[in-house]
Amino acid sequence: MSVQVVAAKMAEVELKDVPTGKDLPAESPVTPTSEGKNIARNDPREAGSSAASPTAEPSSKPGEGSLGLLTPNPAKMPQASAMKRSDPQQNGGEAFINRDGTVAEAPRMKKIQFADQKQEFNKRPSKIGRRSLSRSISQSSTDSYSSAASYTDSSDDETSPRDKQQKNSKGNGDFCIKNIKQADFGRREIEIAEQEMPALMALRKRAQGEKPLAGAKVVGCTHITAQTAVLMETLSALGAQCRWAACNIYSTQNEVAAALAEGGFSVFAWKGESEDDFWWCIDRCVNVEGWQPNMILDDGGDLTHWIYKKYPNMFKKIKGIVEESVTGVHRLYQLSKAGKLCVPAMNVNDSVTKQKFDNLYCCRESILDGLKRTTDVMFGGKQVVVCGYGEVGKGCCAALKAMGSIVYVTEIDPICALQACMDGFRLVKLNEVMRQVDIVITCTGNKNVVVRENLDRMKNGCIVCNMGHSNTEIDVASLRTPELTWERVRSQVDHVIWPDGKRIVLLAEGRLLNLSCSTVPTFVLSITATTQALALIELYNAPEGRYKQDVYLLPKKMDEYVASLHLPTFDAHLTELTDEQAKYLGLNKNGPFKPNYYRY
Ligand code: NAD
Repeated sequence: MSVQVVAAKMAEVELKDVPTGKDLPAESPVTPTSEGKNIARNDPREAGSSAASPTAEPSSKPGEGSLGLLTPNPAKMPQASAMKRSDPQQNGGEAFINRDGTVAEAPRMKKIQFADQKQEFNKRPSKIGRRSLSRSISQSSTDSYSSAASYTDSSDDETSPRDKQQKNSKGNGDFCIKNIKQADFGRREIEIAEQEMPALMALRKRAQGEKPLAGAKVVGCTHITAQTAVLMETLSALGAQCRWAACNIYSTQNEVAAALAEGGFSVFAWKGESEDDFWWCIDRCVNVEGWQPNMILDDGGDLTHWIYKKYPNMFKKIKGIVEESVTGVHRLYQLSKAGKLCVPAMNVNDSVTKQKFDNLYCCRESILDGLKRTTDVMFGGKQVVVCGYGEVGKGCCAALKAMGSIVYVTEIDPICALQACMDGFRLVKLNEVMRQVDIVITCTGNKNVVVRENLDRMKNGCIVCNMGHSNTEIDVASLRTPELTWERVRSQVDHVIWPDGKRIVLLAEGRLLNLSCSTVPTFVLSITATTQALALIELYNAPEGRYKQDVYLLPKKMDEYVASLHLPTFDAHLTELTDEQAKYLGLNKNGPFKPNYYRY
């Protein structure tokens, strides 16, 4: 069988091009080495094993997949490998390197607390209560996240959506959103997003006549944005029924939720939900007569845990969980370790195509946007210090350097420090440049990277912001002292004024700058969304027994496939290995092209 992914021929990528389980070697489980690196046990380069042999037998155990169900003949995709990751609490959290958490961050991550006792949703919170942050939902659920592309106006009508009876034009009222009348506007937002999500559109095209998700009942809990809408409509085109809630109380684009509701999706979300609303919406997604989910798509773990706590019997019918965030993945590993994970789960968060694109390219594109929208600053000639030279730091530095800024870097890790030096940045300690810099950006995933002492030394007008996941990188609490005056000058922009008149410009109160103050590029989200869609298809179609009650990583082959689906956008022409070259390198001509431990 010779099905190939050949980007050179991919003017129009079709899912039938995906190599099948029969063509591919079994994906190896990954085993941590003593250094904590995940090495494929039977990587051909490592052990000269025959794992890459095109003649490898298909099997229905971990090692092959079933995504080729979009092809006329039931075909197979490479299957996810169980991720036997070391416990981050003990080894420094090696595996957490992504948008939602890092190597260093995972051990400090707050355990999600769930509103276990809440089953009554009758009481209406006060207006203040509705806006207040909750301690019983995951931290990321309450991070400020607003799409600047959204013209969602939550102030136009103070009536809680829960008190409104709305129906779409077909008379369907199985949704709860801000305002169904915004549907046309939301549709335009979705159409704009479609332009930048080529892989999902390709999946849809390919799906014509084939429904690899036929019968799938997907309950989702993610940001409800135009990009998510493209994902949901793709899942629907592939045969799935979807019910959706928001994973964040601020991030819903109301007009997009309206467009989805108008299109027949059962969406329960609006911008500015209270904690009570948040859980009510999740509950409305799962607690419905005559409909029971058989797949979960989660971002943050709140939905998964709601079902665990309230409706554990549902797991009898659930075939798998796909989780995007570091927080949710961390919870899944905890469940797995405690022997409580009762269905297979896919960790999308640690896919190469998420980490290497989301963290680096997303931040490279959005750092300037976030700074510009909030401060109108000119970058040329400005002195900037970037704390942390990981994926996010590298992206920020590259963007600022390209704009003519003079960029300094701080690092604790000599390897990243050396990378910074060789990329042409001056490596400094923060206090060496504190008095002279115009902008300070943290991207470490650490805490107290910028403390009051540093803030005291900054020059007048210095802009201070954070690109890391948590609002712990800048010690904002230390600025809430009586001698300092806070002035809100714009949305998400505070001037903090010292007694001598010096002021610093604090953005988003130290929360994620780009997610709080700018948009993030749709194309990057497309990559992650495609991975989510493929993970759902794989788990849904996997034969009984292929996946155990464990957490799996998508196989590298699938990562490569996600990347290949995005190449035609650039009219990119991929070189094909010759037979001789493939033999020489010990590779299958159709991939995977790198061992699991390859760092890109
Ligand atoms: P990373 O681990 O690759 O990089 C962090 C770097 O910071 C490391 O090199 C580390 O050595 C360094 N560091 C740690 N403590 C430091 C300190 N006190 N001073 C200087 N350097 C220090 O992680 P990453 O992928 O770059 O992500 C960083 C943070 O950004 C994480 O919190 C992550 O969740 C978040 N993130 C944000 C976005 C976004 O859109 N804003 C996207 C992805 C990730």
